Amino acid sequence: MRVLKRAAIISIAFTAFICLMLSLFASGILDFGDTEAEAPVFTAATNLTDAPMLMEESEEGDELYLSLELPAGYDTSKIEIVNDYRERILLVTFPDLSESYLSEHPLRGTSGHIASVDYAGRSDGLMIQVTYDTVFEYETGTEGSFYYIYPTDPHELYDKIVVIDPGHGGLASPGAEQNGYKEADIDFQIGKYLFDILSESDIKVYTTRISDVYVGLGKRISLANDLNADMFVSIHCNTNGLDYMDSSAGTTVLYNDTDTSGLSYALGEVMLDQLSSDLGTRARGVVKGSDIYVLRNAQVPAVLVEVGFMSNQEELNNLVSASYQKRVAQSIYEAIVRAYEEVL
Ligand SMILES: [Zn+2]
Repeated sequence: MRVLKRAAIISIAFTAFICLMLSLFASGILDFGDTEAEAPVFTAATNLTDAPMLMEESEEGDELYLSLELPAGYDTSKIEIVNDYRERILLVTFPDLSESYLSEHPLRGTSGHIASVDYAGRSDGLMIQVTYDTVFEYETGTEGSFYYIYPTDPHELYDKIVVIDPGHGGLASPGAEQNGYKEADIDFQIGKYLFDILSESDIKVYTTRISDVYVGLGKRISLANDLNADMFVSIHCNTNGLDYMDSSAGTTVLYNDTDTSGLSYALGEVMLDQLSSDLGTRARGVVKGSDIYVLRNAQVPAVLVEVGFMSNQEELNNLVSASYQKRVAQSIYEAIVRAYEEVL
């Protein structure tokens, strides 16, 4: 994605766009037929986009869309869309179309929530990369020769939305390290199992991390905030902070104590109760966590689970085993389900 070139359309003078518009009208591309009276007003999106695009000003609450006129007989089932929600990017590939196709058939769309639009001609087709300023799902449709993509508020599609956050990741943030094990890996495995369990349920899950990469703290919590998720659950493991093992053990849940609604604390209570009883671990408490960035900056109910101690040999043995990681994931899932019933 980094190599997508940013076209220098911005530098084209306004008069050039007037010419473009006139030629589009002349070529019939902007012919709205007898619906002309209600037709949207497009302006060339010089300030918003790098791709040839005709932009319709939209206001908050308007239905958003992006559309492209396709050649006659074009097989829309071949169009590929990747929603990289962590980056707020929708990447659309139109096979068999070239970059120059776009200059003759500019994209159309609404201005709302678009940060930028980039494009590139590739061997596998024309790629359009739309960056939004918030998280969207999308729906698609066709109307005549036009293909439509409708960025959609996830809440229109899903009743329940949870963001999970496997802690740490990448070289920059391995988390606790004990006996050759990295906390980031354990957090990730639990998160992966939890993601799979939630994906099979009626709860829509988004995750902040899908591989062993570094993800900034701001990015983690803004995913939950932008989604206005029902809850944010961060997954971590504890350590005694010393370079030797000891008997410190048990499960701790930190909550956002700046959350005056009390929901973060109540979520924390359910989480600790469920985990300690399912796993048989010592319940160390629901602890104020506003010194933790992702909790303090949460605008949704938020907790951080310290599942167990990597510095306790027995708990470490458990934490690195796949079967135990699955039990942890199942238990967090049960707590999330309970939170929907008892807290939210
Ligand atoms: Zn951690």
